Amino acid sequence: MFNIGLTGGIGSGKSRVADLLAQWGASVVDTDEIARALTAAGGAAMPAIEREFGPGALTPDGALNRDWMRERAFADPQVRLRLEALLHPVIGQETERQAAAARGPYLVFVVPLLVESIARWRDRVDRICVVDCDPETQVARVRSRSGLTDSAIRRIMAAQAARASRLAVADDVINNDGATSPEQLRAQAKTLHDRWLALAAKTGRQAQGLAGTPE
Ligand code: ADP
Repeated sequence: MFNIGLTGGIGSGKSRVADLLAQWGASVVDTDEIARALTAAGGAAMPAIEREFGPGALTPDGALNRDWMRERAFADPQVRLRLEALLHPVIGQETERQAAAARGPYLVFVVPLLVESIARWRDRVDRICVVDCDPETQVARVRSRSGLTDSAIRRIMAAQAARASRLAVADDVINNDGATSPEQLRAQAKTLHDRWLALAAKTGRQAQGLAGTPE
């Protein structure tokens, strides 16, 4: 398979880009979605989370209590490390399971923290695509789609890689700052989609057809 790593800060527009690419036929494996499913009520990671952090880490319906965890993880780096040690292997397994089952002209891994875990991803993907956005627009977008306060949003952004370090590892960049219209975003995504189709065809690593077809 020809593999793209798609990343960008919170609110940069990664999900929107991934949705467009999927509409045009790309396979998408979203590590954030995988993490959410694992930590939803009944999620595969929940028994281990309850054992590690106690019942307070769960909401009454048995999902990860995100507010509780966010507060503790920011206050104590050890808590964040313990949570990551528990989640990363299961997220990694599920990511690889979905990748192995993926079919289509190329595969997009959506990885919010790709740059933070570049050692794991650099050799896993053929190209890294960064959705670039100015911090003010990130805050405005996240504010309008979530109940988070500006300071909570800025705290999350401060814990993520800086804009410049993301751009430093990018093979392809999509500009999605405050002045970018949805049509302009779509046009940039389409240009890259066409380029990746051509590159994937050149490598001959497309996996089309039914599961089980030799790659
Ligand atoms: P991410 O997945 O990187 O966190 P999203 O794709 O969810 O970001 O985008 C954040 C929010 O901003 C969403 O509500 C999305 O619809 C909106 N958005 C993203 N890009 C644009 C754009 N160019 N114009 C208008 N709204 C946008």
